[in-house]
Order: sequence, then C-alpha cells, then structure tokens
Amino acid sequence: MTQQTPHDAIFYDYDVVIVGAGHAGTEAAAAAARVGAHVALLTGNLDTVGQMSCNPAIGGVAKGQIVREIDALGGLMGQAIDASGIQFRLLNRRKGPAMHSPRAQADKRAYQQYIKQAIEEHAGVHLIQEQVEDLWVEDVNGVKRIRGVCTRGNACYRAKAVVLTTGTFLQAIMHTGEAKTDGGRAGEGTSRGISGALLRCGFQISRFKTGTPPRLNAHSIDFSSTEEQPGDPDPQPFSYLNTTIGTEQLPCFITYTTPAVHELIHANLHRAPMYSGQINSTGPRYCPSIEDKVVRFADKDRHQLFLEPEGRNTREIYVNGISTSLPRDVQDQMIRMVPGLENAQIMRYGYAVEYDYCPPDQLLPSLQSKQVQGLFLAGQINGTTGYEEAGCQGLIAGANASRFSQGVEPMVLSRDSSYIGVLIDDLVTRGVDEPYRMFTSRAEYRLSLRQDNADRRLTRMGHAMGLVDAHRLKLLETKEASIAAAMAMLESSRVDSVNGIKHLRRAETTWDEMCDRIPQLGQFDRQVADQVVWDVRYEGYISRQQLQIDRQHRMARKKIPSTFDYQRIAGMRIEARQKLTRIRPIDLDQAGRISGITPADIALLLAYLESGKTAVSEPDS
Ligand SMILES: Cc1cc2nc3c(=O)[nH]c(=O)nc-3n(C[C@H](O)[C@H](O)[C@H](O)COP(=O)(O)OP(=O)(O)OC[C@H]3O[C@@H](n4cnc5c(N)ncnc54)[C@H](O)[C@@H]3O)c2cc1C
Repeated sequence: MTQQTPHDAIFYDYDVVIVGAGHAGTEAAAAAARVGAHVALLTGNLDTVGQMSCNPAIGGVAKGQIVREIDALGGLMGQAIDASGIQFRLLNRRKGPAMHSPRAQADKRAYQQYIKQAIEEHAGVHLIQEQVEDLWVEDVNGVKRIRGVCTRGNACYRAKAVVLTTGTFLQAIMHTGEAKTDGGRAGEGTSRGISGALLRCGFQISRFKTGTPPRLNAHSIDFSSTEEQPGDPDPQPFSYLNTTIGTEQLPCFITYTTPAVHELIHANLHRAPMYSGQINSTGPRYCPSIEDKVVRFADKDRHQLFLEPEGRNTREIYVNGISTSLPRDVQDQMIRMVPGLENAQIMRYGYAVEYDYCPPDQLLPSLQSKQVQGLFLAGQINGTTGYEEAGCQGLIAGANASRFSQGVEPMVLSRDSSYIGVLIDDLVTRGVDEPYRMFTSRAEYRLSLRQDNADRRLTRMGHAMGLVDAHRLKLLETKEASIAAAMAMLESSRVDSVNGIKHLRRAETTWDEMCDRIPQLGQFDRQVADQVVWDVRYEGYISRQQLQIDRQHRMARKKIPSTFDYQRIAGMRIEARQKLTRIRPIDLDQAGRISGITPADIALLLAYLESGKTAVSEPDS
C-alpha cells in the first residue's frame, strides 16, 4: 500500500479502475461502463483477455443458471458462448425444470477473441496492458480510502473506485511433480505487490490450490475405442437475445481410467505435490485431481474421462477428469494406459497452481471491502473457482464500483432473486474454507431460480440500475405480455369440463395437447409455453415459498448500523459478539445466516435494535 506515489509517476484519471481482464474483470469493466463510469481495464497481457485457464466450457449444473442471470443483467458471457460454442447440451433434461442446466463446449480461442473485441468496442472502457504492482490508499484518521493503483513502469491510475480481479495470479506457484515454477497459469508470470499491499491495509490472506489436466493431440488418439457423445439436436442459446444456435456441433468422446492407471498413481503418490507435502493449501473437493480420486474412492476401478476439443481450428484435446500435478514421466505413462490413448501425444502437461486469496467475509454484500472504502474484490481472489462464479461477481462489483463513484447506493441481489445473490451472500456471510463453486443445493429457492426465467427475475432490476439496455427490456416486456395473454386464454377456456389452467396443472398434460385442445395457444413460442407450464404447475409451491421470502424481507428491513457495537449487548454470548463484530452484517436477515449465530442471539439483537438504545461505537480515530 502506498500513500505517496512515485515522484516521477505519470497520472491518468478514471472513475473506476479494474485490475485483471479475466472472467471477473471483463464483466466488471463492461458493467461499470454500462452504469455510467469512465473505466480503465488494466491487465498484464492483452493476449489473454477472457482466457479459459482450464476447461474450455461454459455452464453446467448451477453454473448454467448463473450464465443466464449474467445475461439477464446485460453481461457478456452468454453472448460470447453462443457465438463461440462448439457443442451445446441442456443437462438434467429428465429432471424437473429447477435442475435443467445449460452447458456448452467452447472454441477457446474464439471465446477469448469475442470477449476481447466486445471490451475493445465497449463505450466507456479503455483496455490497457499494464501490470499493477501497488494499491494507492489514503489513510485519514484510521479510515482508509482507495485513490488508485500504481503499475510497473511508474504509471498511476487515479480513480474513485478500484476492482481487483487478479484470479489465480497473486504470489502464484505452479507444480508439476517436484518441479516448481512461478506463475498463475502456464506460460505466464506471478502477480507480486498486491498481496503485500492488501496485508498492509489489514486484510487477512490465505492460500488455495487448483489443478488442470494434460492436453493431447487429437491426431494421436484412437477414437474408435471411445464412446461418442453428441450435442443436443436442438441446441439452446444461453443469451436471451438469441433464439437459435446455427453453428455446426462437434462431438466429444468418453473413455475410462483402468486399474493399471490407479496402481501407477498409488506407486507414485510420494511424488505428487499434494501428498509429498510440497503443497499444503486446500483444493476444490468436488473437482478433485486424479490422485485424490484414486485415494478417496479406492473402491472404484475406473473413472470416466471426457475428451473435449479445445476448438474448431486446433487438434488440441482437453482431457476432462484427469486433472493432475504428478511428474511428467508419470503423466506420460498414465495417459498411455487409457483405452484410445495408447499412442497419445501430450501437448501440454497437467499442473497445479497455488495462489493467495482474500477470505471473502472481509467484504460487504456490494463486494466492497470493509477495510478500504472504494476497493472492491471479485472472482477467484475471493476464494471461488469457475468462470461463471467469477463473471457474476465481476458484474456486481463493477456495477457497484460505478455506483460508488457516483455516490449512490449499491445494488445487492437477495437470495430469493438469483443464484448470484446466493453466491455473494454465502461468500460474505459464511466465508470459505475450500474453493467455492455453485451447486443447486446451495439455493433454498431453486424452484423459482430456474435457468428459463432469469430474465423475468432480473432484467427489470438490471434496467433500473443502468445495466440493461432498452432493447433487452423490450424483449422481456413482449415475452411477459405473451405469457399474460396465454394465461388469460387458458383461464377463459374449458377442457373436459374444467378451465384450461386446471387441466394444464395435471402432471400428464403436455403443452402440445393443450394446443390441440385450444388451437389459439399454438401462436406462442417454446419460451413462452415453458413459462406458462411451470408457472401453472409450481404455483402452489412458489406461493408457499413466498411466505418464507416475505419473512426474510421483513428481517432485511431491520438495518444494523455499520458501527454497531455488539460488545454492549448485555447477555449476548461472547462467540456471537465476536462473529457479529467480524462479519458486521448489514441487516438482521444477514445476521441470522452467520454460522453459529442462534435464534436466541437474533432475538437479543432485535430487542436491542427496537429498544432505541444506541449501541453505536465511535469511529476509530
Ligand atoms: C491451472 C488452473 C486450473 C483450474 N482449474 C479449474 C477447475 O478445474 N474448475 C474451475 O471451475 N476452475 C478452474 N480454474 C479456475 C478458473 O480459471 C478461474 O475460476 C477463473 O478463471 C477465475 O476468473 P478470474 O477473472 O477471477 O481470474 P482469471 O481468469 O485468472 O483472470 C485474472 C486476470 O488478472 C490478470 N492479472 C493478475 N494480476 C494482475 C496484475 N497485478 N496486474 C494486471 N493484471 C493482472 C491476469 O493476467 C488475468 O488476465 C483453474 C485455473 C487454473 C489457473
């Protein structure tokens, strides 16, 4: 952290500066500009803007829902994958609509180029290759406030708000067997300076790790020994702006590890950085390395591997399911023991990366840090993993940095509005003890938070915040009008002596059957039909959920001042006081979700807030 900028520095002025142009940074820059800020997006290497560090795919279970929400708020990710996808699938089609999750393989290079060009052409964003090395923070009587950032080469970017989205790069070390190299991603360097600046500002910093599998040359694979996995015959777009996907779909292929692979891994565990003690930090439990899988699931004699093309114009194949940091010689042997890969050539070896992250309970629900006013954090730096988790945080942090620079209230999404609201609330209220990824089970209102209705949940709010343009809002309004017209048609028609709504509510009734019985319904497209069917079928559950949501909103109206002194609440448990003081919830609803805070603690807090007694501490001086 610097208070004095270098005496020979060159200064540039912006409203908002974003550091890092990965998935969080690009969404942050675009969102901040849409909300009206003049934005500088600074990144270490212009050739890796929007790069997919690991899997060339977007979406998946719960993640696909996030991409639809990003799109409903006017973000980039949905349009980028629609333009660059090579295989689209709607996962969990046989389950209920809350579980339907879109996923697409991307042409990695085309995805990145789409994002880079979208940023280059974005009004209000200035994309610049700069390596940021220090934060410029002003400290007035113990209150810290961001002034800007300083880069390698003595440039200082002055701004009212800064968003850090440095991903896996802070103090990063890559491991392949015993070999260690500095860098946050293969072929790239480590980001130094920012961790130290954060520590000096009073942030706590911890370390996580993640890993990636080897990439193979398709020319050297015998696909006849593998199973082909095609895309959907009717590929669905991610973006609400698109109605079809017109590009050719490429297949993926499935093969399996063998007992011989597992034996080889066991025999070499002492050379695996996670087992030799070379790496001590925690990795993603649900996305384990192959070393972890053979140890944790010792009873399984094979694990599924997906062979996924990295693009249309490359023969590189991503081997999904065999993330590893074993030494190169073991990776060479291991790959060749897999059916179809007997002669496979490795083009890139798998590796693990260890990096610094900031435990996210140091943030407010706006993603602004509690330590430094005007400093926002988003993406993997907050202990999450995944492009979608990073992108949505970027969008919210960027919008709020822009709003902060204008002196207006932040945009906070509630848990009942979106997976994005669930994700951010989990991060800032509960913190993380392993890399956080989204699951449908994390959302208590998942029946309402479906991938098909993200526009109906979020687009109006996005428009009110300046994130969504008039065209997107108009599309939503047209859709809502069609849904209302279809509902009215059902209400006023009779089928087998009951009204159309009641008939549709029967589980065995299909929309096509309804169209046969009430031909005017045939005018509505699939998107409208789906909304009508789910609205009718789930009406009972959703109205019961609404009671719970209303209670939560009442609690959320009980605001807690940011300087509230929990030590003064007589009778409150010491552990509860300590937790509340550390997290500093913004309202009673958030306080109730902090782990270890009991209903009794909340009752005491509520009584105190309602008594009118002031438990507000003096600001530090
Ligand atoms: C080896 C590896 C394996 C992974 N495995 C998985 C996985 O299995 N599953 C999964 O979901 N996710 C995985 N990920 C994580 C995934 O890549 C991230 O979740 C996602 O990219 C995070 O997005 P982000 O925007 O936060 O950061 P990133 O995409 O990492 O982008 C950060 C950007 O900041 C820039 N930058 C960093 N420091 C500075 C600085 N000081 N100045 C200027 N620019 C800077 C970088 O150049 C980069 O462009 C893996 C990542 C890696 C590296």
